[in-house]
Parts: sequence; structure tokens; C-alpha cells
Amino acid sequence: MATVADAKIQFTRQLHPAPTSPQARAQILANPGFGTSFSDHMVSIEWDEQRGWHDAVVGPRGPILLDPAAAVLHYAQEIFEGLKAYSQSDGSIALFRPEANAARFNQSARRLAMPELPEELFIESVRQLVAADRDWLPTVEGGSLYLRPFMFASEAFLGVRPAKQYRYLVIASPAGNYFKSGAPAVSIWVSDYTRAAPGGTGAAKCGGNYAASLVPQAEAIERGHDQVVFLDAAEHRWIEELGGMNLYFVFADGSLVTPALTGTILPGITRDSLLALARDEGLTVREERYSLDQWRDDAKSGRLVETFACGTAAVVTPVGKVAGRDGEFTIGTGGPGQLTQKLKNRLVAIQRGEAPDPHGWVMKL
Ligand SMILES: *Cc1c(COP(=O)(O)O)cnc(C)c1O
Repeated sequence: MATVADAKIQFTRQLHPAPTSPQARAQILANPGFGTSFSDHMVSIEWDEQRGWHDAVVGPRGPILLDPAAAVLHYAQEIFEGLKAYSQSDGSIALFRPEANAARFNQSARRLAMPELPEELFIESVRQLVAADRDWLPTVEGGSLYLRPFMFASEAFLGVRPAKQYRYLVIASPAGNYFKSGAPAVSIWVSDYTRAAPGGTGAAKCGGNYAASLVPQAEAIERGHDQVVFLDAAEHRWIEELGGMNLYFVFADGSLVTPALTGTILPGITRDSLLALARDEGLTVREERYSLDQWRDDAKSGRLVETFACGTAAVVTPVGKVAGRDGEFTIGTGGPGQLTQKLKNRLVAIQRGEAPDPHGWVMKL
């Protein structure tokens, strides 16, 4: 629906009249946490059938006006992305594989019957926001500026059809290092709920998937675990992913398995990057289904030595313990595994410009 000409649209720049004071900002940046503080600006672009993408603005971040009948509030037509801007060792700022986020954003848009955003416009929008808020990159070691592009149906109507008006926004949130040195291993709960069914929206990054995962996640916490892992909807046997992270299994012979992208799993960019890095190391990585029963047997026999989850926010998180209705089992020693740590270090070094970038993943701004 959007034409290439849309990508040439000019951004209007409006600086924040009362930006956060340097002192208050410094305090936030020294200990940013995750997802709780936000930079001064945001990007907004509108779409309608007549004009396509228009009215691109980098302006002050603040509340948005929405009609109570806006379609997103009733039928959840909303998609999002998550990527980070990193300070490089040479002092510049870089994005990691933003074109992969742009492409996935449009895959999500197609599944949710929303207009596509030209990939160049997606990247330009992120660039514009980082340029406006470059003082918001955390000063703490391992910090980054988390960027959240998203789109929702803004047309006011009640009726079940794709909306005719959309709004695309990008906001930014300074993020600390999830874990300072080696990440502690997490305990995960095997849910009886399913996240995604064949033919559903499991491969799309849409808010609705997360709404449906909150009860399962709360159940995991209630039972004393950190995260929830979902099995496939049809047989309730094959491991899919966590609520917001993909999974890797590491075997004693040095090979790895990650569940194949069958349409019910979110195609993670961290997952894809680690696949390439593991293969660069000469390791065998199989993308195939892996069952809960096999996982338990392999962990007990020692054939499986590590399991880790991966995603942009926490990068790589070791899994130490798995519990479900049929009991629990420990993976390896229950702590972070060696290959998990090695792959994580390799990825983080590329993201921060501390190691060569053979795949051309880093985009300097
Ligand atoms: C975003 C997301 C991931 C991780 O994707 P990355 O591109 O690696 O950040 C994994 N699973 C779900 C459900 C997600 O929404």
C-alpha cells in the first residue's frame, strides 16, 4: 500500500520545550533499569488511505490523543518492534541489524492487515529519534538505548474490518545491563496454556500475543519461577519459546538445537544472529522440533548440558531449572553454561563495536 516515495518524506523537527534537566537525566542514566524511564522525544507518522504515510514528526514525547472508538482499543490491531542503540568503543552510536527489524515489522503488518512501512522509513525514523535523544544513551557499562517502534489502528469506528487510519510511533527508553557479569540462570515453568496455534499470530510481534501470555507468566511467578515456556498447541509436546525469548539447547557433543520457525514461533533476530555465530565457530546447529520429554531425558542423561533463552532485551539468559506438572529437572549444574556465555560475549562484542563485524550487522549512525 505504501509507495517508495513515502520513504522520501521529510521529518518536521520540534524540540522539547522543557526537556529533562541534565541533572535528572544523569541520575536516570546512572541506573536506568529497564522500561521505566523514557527519553524526551518521540517520532510520529500518520497513515490513511488517501495520503499514505504523511506528517512525520520528531517532537516532544507525551500523551497522545485517541478517540474512544479507535479500533486498536477494541480489536487490538497493534504491532511493535524492539531494538537497541549502542555506544561504540570509538564514541559513535550504532544500531544492530535494524533492517531485520524493519522487515519483521512489515511481516507483522501483513498478518494484522495493516499497511506496510517502507523499510527505509522505519530505519530513518529510528535514526531521527536517536539523533534527537543521543544524550539519553546510558553511561553505565552494558547500557543501551532501547527503541520501541509500534503501529496501531487509530480510526474511530466499531466494526470488524481493517482500519483505514494508522499511527506509527517510536519511543526510546534507556536500558541498563540486565546482569552485570554472568547472567544468573533462570527457572522456567512449563505452561498448560498455549501461546500460539498453527495459523494464528505466533510469528507476528503483536501486542495481543503478550496480552494472552500474562496469565501464564503470572502463574509461573506464583509457583516460584522466573519465566514461562510454551509447548505447541496441537500436541502439547514440542517446545516453542518463552513469553518473549527464543530457546537454544546445547548438547555434550557441542552441537545445538533451536526450534524451527514453523509459524508459531517469533523469528527472533537474536536467535538468527546466534545461529550464524555458532556456525561461524564451526558448531552444528539444527533447527528442528525438540520435545519436553526428550529435554528431560537428555538433561538427566547428560546428553544435554546447557539451555539458554535469547532476545534483544536480555540478550542471552541461561536456563537452570525446568518445572511442570510432571515434576522438575535441572540443566547441567543449574548455573550458566560455558557455551552460553561464550556466544553471548561474542554477540555483545559485535554489538558494541569491540569485535569485527563479519556479517555487516552494525549500522553506525
Ligand atoms: C521479540 C520476541 C522475541 C525475541 O526477538 P529478538 O528479535 O531477538 O528481540 C522472541 N519471542 C517473542 C515472543 C518476541 O516477541
